Amino acid sequence: MKEAEPLASRTSFGIGGPAEFFLELARPEAIENAIQDCCERDIPYLLLGAGTNLLVADRGVEGLVVRVVNREHEVDGTRVRAGAGLKMMRLARIVADANLRGFEFAIGVPGTVGGAVYQDAGCWGRELREVLVEAEGFVPGKGRLTWTPLALKLGYRTSALRDGDLSGALVVSATVQLQRGDGEEARQLMARLTRERNETQPIKTKNCGSVFKNPTGDSAGRLVQAAGLKGAREGAAVVSSLHGNFIVNEGGATAVEVRRLIERVMAEVKRRFGIQLEPEVEMVGRWK
Ligand SMILES: Cc1cc2nc3c(=O)[nH]c(=O)nc-3n(C[C@H](O)[C@H](O)[C@H](O)COP(=O)(O)OP(=O)(O)OC[C@H]3O[C@@H](n4cnc5c(N)ncnc54)[C@H](O)[C@@H]3O)c2cc1C
Repeated sequence: MKEAEPLASRTSFGIGGPAEFFLELARPEAIENAIQDCCERDIPYLLLGAGTNLLVADRGVEGLVVRVVNREHEVDGTRVRAGAGLKMMRLARIVADANLRGFEFAIGVPGTVGGAVYQDAGCWGRELREVLVEAEGFVPGKGRLTWTPLALKLGYRTSALRDGDLSGALVVSATVQLQRGDGEEARQLMARLTRERNETQPIKTKNCGSVFKNPTGDSAGRLVQAAGLKGAREGAAVVSSLHGNFIVNEGGATAVEVRRLIERVMAEVKRRFGIQLEPEVEMVGRWK
């Protein structure tokens, strides 16, 4: 157990204060015990994956942050079970090497399997829920459970974990159903998708991926651009000139600066087009 552990370097934004207490755990039972203890002692906790969808407050996070790093995987025919701490990109390569198709979209998701289940991550028009068979999880006070996609209420960047009755639950592992195919073809498709993405999005900067969810039938990036907000800045936080739905930390940006920029973009898009953007990035920690 570490105290006052910096979190900025554990997020893709590179922003945020320390965790009051911090644990990195690979054994599911150990993670389960830690969050069960927190519940019994009324200590707040936050589960951390790869930190690629988080804006951590400058004053850090109260209570315990548990970084989930169980990275085992098992290929059984066309079914693949992966630990919540395994990166989606890594799993995409593993399944291609096993000559399976249908998971290529995951090469665009830098987060973990747990983080992907948490909000039905997806890319290039495909979503995790299209291949997910079940997820194993843990609910403090109730123990280990198996959830169907229906029970998880997965939808575009939402689930019962993020927005419903499973808030605070741990994803332990996920099982996906894929098809037999040619691994080489899968690798080539992933390479092409990655190339295209590098040309249109500031992937190599410090960012959190898409800042806003796409409103139905529209694209948040298009709206931000149409509102003339590309290049808008608060301190070292700037709306990418390459893609309007990315905010880049140019170096030393604070969480407050990013949040101010997010709120400014939301207000301007609302004023110009009457559309209320909703953040996809999650703001966690001591904001008040
Ligand atoms: C360059 C870049 C590109 C991106 N592109 C995409 C994209 O194309 N599509 C897309 O969907 N997302 C994209 N993202 C966002 C991000 O990768 C996804 O949202 C991902 O699912 C987050 O996973 P994570 O492990 O990083 O979660 P974190 O950011 O660590 O956490 C996010 C939330 O998930 C919860 N969580 C994490 N692990 C668990 C667990 N085991 N059990 C329960 N809850 C858990 C956390 O508590 C937190 O509330 C991108 C991000 C970046 C930086």
